[in-house]
Amino acid sequence: MQLDHYVHTLGYHLKQKYQTRVRKLSIDAQFTCPNRDGSIGRGGCTFCNVDSFAKPQGQIPIAQQMLERQGELKHKNISYLAYFQAYTNTYAETEVLQRLYDEALQEPNVLGLCVGTRPDCVRDEVLLLLAQYQSQGKEVWLELGLQSSSDLTLKRINRGHDFAAYRATVRRAHDFGLKVCTHLILGLPGESSDDYMRSLNDVLEIGVEGLKLHPLHVVQGSSMAKAWQAGRLDVLGIDDYVAQAVRLIQHTPPEVIFHRVSALAQKPMLLAPDWCSDRWLALTQIAKLLSEQGGQGIALQKEWQKLEQLTAIAV
Ligand code: SF4
Repeated sequence: MQLDHYVHTLGYHLKQKYQTRVRKLSIDAQFTCPNRDGSIGRGGCTFCNVDSFAKPQGQIPIAQQMLERQGELKHKNISYLAYFQAYTNTYAETEVLQRLYDEALQEPNVLGLCVGTRPDCVRDEVLLLLAQYQSQGKEVWLELGLQSSSDLTLKRINRGHDFAAYRATVRRAHDFGLKVCTHLILGLPGESSDDYMRSLNDVLEIGVEGLKLHPLHVVQGSSMAKAWQAGRLDVLGIDDYVAQAVRLIQHTPPEVIFHRVSALAQKPMLLAPDWCSDRWLALTQIAKLLSEQGGQGIALQKEWQKLEQLTAIAV
């Protein structure tokens, strides 16, 4: 069952746009994070252990990392987006960022950049740099970790920023003409399905071009690992996650592009839930449920139809 029959996926979007298969290649450019080094906070977000993002790359040059990642992919003859993923990929002087981004962009078959960062760490200078790449014809995405729109939850997970910081940065990014992809986590402590829906609606209200959904997964070295090991933290079961993710996808307008709808992490780094170690498990079930109940945007469509009927009756 193919997910992109029911979801506007990044893979589908890029295939239509560039007439070729495009994959993201994860890069660890050895950034750090202001929520770890004391500039904003220490200890980082409670779910974070950066080693779980990708294989630790040490000081491996970007070109070599990309070559190795390409070698791991099953499909050949495809194009790539250089995905600056680990830690906070705008947390350096602009000249340093430009050198690193340029290094990735000069590799063969690289169509553009995805830059993952925190909402409170994106200077106008960096937005301008990204906008310049975009105006040169590069595919550029600014990926913002938000995780939840609830300030209470953001405080609880030690994000070190609030929702207002996210809102302000999205508006500035849009002023520069950039596309934003927002990350949301389902299953954060103290949250339930109403909170997930509120986060989605808050993000949609501001406006966003892309979304990334994933379940809370507990990884070694994170603060949450200790809570989970002590039995003080629950994670979502696969059925629950699938139902929640499907509901959010059905409430998302069709033009919004999903970069991801689940998570993958490898053991022994992954502690829980086990099902996150299988790339396809949740994806298959999400696609199946969407095929049975209707795909992306169906819930909005039904709400609009209901409104139209009510308006017709009123007239
Ligand atoms: S999740 Fe991102 S912002 Fe939070 S500590 Fe890790 S690298 Fe920093």
